[in-house]
Amino acid sequence: MEQEFITPIHVRDYIFCPMLFYHKYVVGLLEPMTEMMLEGSREYLRDEARWRERKTLLNERRIKADRMLFSYPLTSKKYRIHGIADTIFWVNRKMNILEIKYGSSSGPFRNHLYQAAAYALMAEEEFSQPAYKIILFYKTHRKWVERRFTMQLRAYLIKVLERAWEVLEGKLVLEPKPRAPCASCWYRRFCYP
Ligand code: SF4
Repeated sequence: MEQEFITPIHVRDYIFCPMLFYHKYVVGLLEPMTEMMLEGSREYLRDEARWRERKTLLNERRIKADRMLFSYPLTSKKYRIHGIADTIFWVNRKMNILEIKYGSSSGPFRNHLYQAAAYALMAEEEFSQPAYKIILFYKTHRKWVERRFTMQLRAYLIKVLERAWEVLEGKLVLEPKPRAPCASCWYRRFCYP
């Protein structure tokens, strides 16, 4: 059956490395869960029901949200992407996207930024209004990183989505290119046998 939607995780992986995206989603090679990934998913499950924690976080930041949605499913038919946004909140009617990151990294990482941007793009379609800011909160280090959802960010994200679909549909063939993460990448054995 043809794939109908991709998710912000696909965007995160494509930005990290298009070849990694290819190995995972075209060939179907999945890296075994590392301890860090397992810890992350356990933390997510523990945290899932605790939407009040998001409210506390906003209070700590002295953000007075007019409205807040937690664990909210979003879909963009236009870009064929769907996923569950961690938190969407409005301040003075401006829409903001908050993504909580678990694990030991303190970021900010470009792939995390575009993953959150994918939620912003879907939220724009869902709520028919522009997204104002994207926020990443690295929970372990309590690091809060915010960026405006600019035209440039949006345009690049759309280009990535188009490329990702081309790879999935076999219209774009990729070649591995040496890059910084190669040294510790689990997929290295497939890129450079
Ligand atoms: S080894 Fe390098 S090129 Fe291959 S998937 Fe990993 S990061 Fe990408």
